[in-house]
Amino acid sequence: MRTLVLNAGYEPLAVVSFRRALVLVMNNKATIIKADDDNPVSSTTGDYERPSVIILSRYVRVPYVRRVPLTRRGVLRRDAHHCAYCGRSANTIDHVVPKSRGGEESWENLVACCFRCNNVKGDRTLAQLGWNLRFTPRMPSGPAWLALGLDRHQPAWDDFLAPAA
Ligand SMILES: [Zn+2]
Repeated sequence: MRTLVLNAGYEPLAVVSFRRALVLVMNNKATIIKADDDNPVSSTTGDYERPSVIILSRYVRVPYVRRVPLTRRGVLRRDAHHCAYCGRSANTIDHVVPKSRGGEESWENLVACCFRCNNVKGDRTLAQLGWNLRFTPRMPSGPAWLALGLDRHQPAWDDFLAPAA
């Protein structure tokens, strides 16, 4: 059981164990804004609400940019299931610089690609084909992407995760 931690400004910040979340709440560092009412936490000193979402009392500055973990689904979602080469509906992933030529697994080198373009492209580079990307692939950003990267998504958190841009 995991708890979504929101920064004082309501941005998703982290996912922690519910025990760690309870400690934050008991130390007045956070407040429960959504509890899992069906599963209270029982302890020798009594029952507690099991936190599903908590909000920090003080704003925490995030000192670094987190990497959003790379997934096949994430690449398709970032590219809205449109082929990066022809714009048609895409269900496959392509390495812009082919793996065989040292292309890496990264947000910058993976794009959504339709079956047809994927077949035509094979192991060739864009320069060889005279093709262009319709956009520059980048790591997606925004609170929903960060939160997705933090842990498995839980339905109870939906209200607190803004839709990804
Ligand atoms: Zn295509």
